[in-house]
Parts: sequence; structure tokens; C-alpha cells
Amino acid sequence: MSVLDDLANKAGDDDTVCGVPARLVAAPATTEEAAALIAETRDLAVVIRGSGTTLHHGPPPRDLDLIIDTRRLAGVVEHAAGDLITVVRAGTPMAELHCLPGQQLALDAPPSATAGGTVAANTSGPRRLRYGTARDLLIGITVVRPDGRITRAGGKVVKNVAGYDLGKLYTGSQGTLGLITECVFRLHPVPPATSFVRAIAPATRAADVLAGQFAASALEINAAPGADPEIAVLLEGTEAGVRDRAAALAGLLDGEVTDEAPPWWNTPPWPDGGLGLKLTCVLSAVPALVTAAVDAGLTVRGSAGTGVLHAGGPVRPASADEAARLVGLLRAAATTAGGHAVVLTAPDSVRDRLDMWGPVPGLELMRRVKEQFDPDHRFAPGRFVGGI
Ligand SMILES: Cc1cc2nc3c(=O)[nH]c(=O)nc-3n(C[C@H](O)[C@H](O)[C@H](O)COP(=O)(O)OP(=O)(O)OC[C@H]3O[C@@H](n4cnc5c(N)ncnc54)[C@H](O)[C@@H]3O)c2cc1C
Repeated sequence: MSVLDDLANKAGDDDTVCGVPARLVAAPATTEEAAALIAETRDLAVVIRGSGTTLHHGPPPRDLDLIIDTRRLAGVVEHAAGDLITVVRAGTPMAELHCLPGQQLALDAPPSATAGGTVAANTSGPRRLRYGTARDLLIGITVVRPDGRITRAGGKVVKNVAGYDLGKLYTGSQGTLGLITECVFRLHPVPPATSFVRAIAPATRAADVLAGQFAASALEINAAPGADPEIAVLLEGTEAGVRDRAAALAGLLDGEVTDEAPPWWNTPPWPDGGLGLKLTCVLSAVPALVTAAVDAGLTVRGSAGTGVLHAGGPVRPASADEAARLVGLLRAAATTAGGHAVVLTAPDSVRDRLDMWGPVPGLELMRRVKEQFDPDHRFAPGRFVGGI
């Protein structure tokens, strides 16, 4: 019996990617099993699925024969507390990595999201300000390439110096270069105390927080048409240190100290099936970009400390023309602000009409990398920048 016959099932109604149905779904349980499956299915177009939290992001796949699901590739292989590292299989839910004994993988991805999907998506949340992104916290990786070969890069120590750092290449590759089966992450201690400072204040006040000696772990803003703009700051550290910093910051912003994050913290500002964009800019231009998004009728929220914002609903563009107009407007504003605007998600009815990535520096280099790794273009065909 072939590996495909052994592992694959007929796809169900929910086995779709951006509305494109798959024919088959297979869930390998080990790196070796995944490698045998991928080597045997060289004529099939593949999309990899973790828990599916952002599978609807980006353009639809051009073809889709097989979904490779990582849910059986799960479990913590090793937690070396003394070295502050963990080795995990790609399908491990982030919930397990948010609360290792005394330590954490400091990424705010949803609890159901998988470790491999979080690396492949390289999205970031509020605590990027202090801890960085998956790209910063990944120190080793095992990948099955589209030709079925197993490759390993990096290792289990924070300082890896030999060879190309292929982990960085796979981070954010959205399943277009291979199947990540195992990751090694750098961990951080769980802080003894945390507190939030919340204030009604415009994005311009974020600069005061950054300029002060508050050592914020996250600095988030939320602004929507017709509503008061808000700032929320996460402070972490010792009990006394957090208490003192929180009191001083609350005084500066005329805000309040709370144990809880505001309800909008780390949630996308678009309704299911709506239009959602990721905006980036230089820090000094955050207020101008926020104003542009709100003036366009969108809600905007995200990190004023790193210049990574999300904009979206409540507007659900009624037509492709309206969606294209909004995207054009936000793209121009982001460019002026020294950054980019990428459409993460859009109503199925308008997706085909949108340039979801916009102009991408380094596109030619990315094409060449894709050609090297996946010359038959069978991993997530058409999903990556430039329709690669
Ligand atoms: C409300 C919300 C808040 C979020 N906040 C954060 C945050 O704070 N920090 C953060 O880092 N992220 C954040 N994210 C994004 C999050 O990282 C991704 O949604 C999630 O981690 C993807 O994991 P998944 O298992 O759901 O992957 P999926 O959604 O299933 O897949 C995502 C992409 O990765 C590819 N992929 C999945 N698994 C693999 C694999 N093993 N090998 C290769 N490619 C693969 C898929 O093909 C797809 O392109 C947030 C998302 C949401 C919805």
C-alpha cells in the first residue's frame, strides 16, 4: 500500500482554502512519514494546514489536490529549562508553549494555533515590542522540502553561527517552501508580575511612552471612526517595579492601571469575511497612518511601539471597486509613512480583483528562492507574493 493510500482521506466540505476545495487530506505523524508522503505525491498541488487560524489570509491557491494537516505531528519533544529552549513538533498547539513550567514562548498567537503555523505565518502581536517575532525566537528547524528531502538548520543553542540561517527563510514562507515538522525555540521566563495601563489618548501620545523609562512590553493603540482613541500598555517585571512604573505611566497618560487587557487587545479589527489589512510604517508616522485609516472609515489597532498595525471593518466593501479604492488609499498612506500595506483577508467576492500584496521589494530574489526549493510550484501555488 502506498503512503498516500495509507494516510490520505477524501476531503470533506470544510477542507477548503479561501473557498478552493481540496480532493484529499493527509495527516502524517512523523517527519519521516511526511517525507515519504511528499516524495510520493510529486504531481499533487499541496497546501499545509495547521489549526487554520490564518489559512484564509492571502490569495486563493491556483490548484489544490492535497491538504497536509499537521495535527498529528504534535508534542513537546524537549524542554531544556536551563538552556531556555524547547524542541516541539510543528502541530503542537501554542497553548502548550504559553505555559511551560516557569517559562514561555513569548508569542501572542492564539492558543489553538500550531507552532509550525506560527512560524510559517510570522505574524506578530503586542509583545513583539519586547520579545520580537517568531523569526527572532526560532533557533532551529526541521523541514521536509517539496522533493521529499528532510533538511535541518540551526540547533539547540541560542548562539548558532555556522552556515546559512535557513530558519529565517522558512519563517513567514506561508507553506510555499516546504513542510515545517519541528522547531526549536528560545524561551523567556514568565514574569512575576504584569499590569496594564489604559488611557483615552490619541496615537500621538505613544511617543511619550516610548521616550519615558517605562520599559513597556507592549504599546497598543485602538482608533475607530466616531470613538475615543485608546492606548494600552503592558508592563512586566517584579511586583514593585511594575507597580511603580504603572503608577507613573498612568499619571503621564491620565489613565488607569488594570489587571486585564482591553477587549480589543490582539484581536483583528475586521469582521469574519471582511476586509483586513496589515499596515507598517516608521514609528514617527504611526499617528498620521492611524488618522488616514480612520478617515477612510476603518478601525485601526496594533503596535505603536513597532509600527505594525491592522486595519479593517466595520466597513465590508460592498463592491470590488470600493475595496480596491480603500486598499489604494491605505497603500498610498502607508508608503508615505515609510512602510507597506498588505491585504491579509477580503470577502471572497472581491478577492480576485485585489492586488493583495502590492509592490514587494526583493520579489525577484523571492522568485529565485522559490524556483530552487519548489521548481514544480506545487506547494501553495499562487499564494505567495507575485502569484508565485
Ligand atoms: C486573533 C489573532 C491574534 C494573533 N496574534 C498573534 C500574535 O500575537 N503573535 C503571532 O506570532 N501571531 C499572531 N497571530 C497569527 C498567528 O501566528 C497565526 O494565526 C497562527 O499562528 C497560524 O497558525 P495555524 O496553526 O493556525 O496555521 P494555519 O492558519 O493553518 O496556516 C498559516 C499559514 O502557515 C502555513 N503552515 C501551517 N503550518 C505549516 C507548517 N508546519 N509548515 C509550513 N507551513 C505551514 C499554511 O499553509 C498557511 O500559509 C494571531 C492570529 C489571530 C487570528
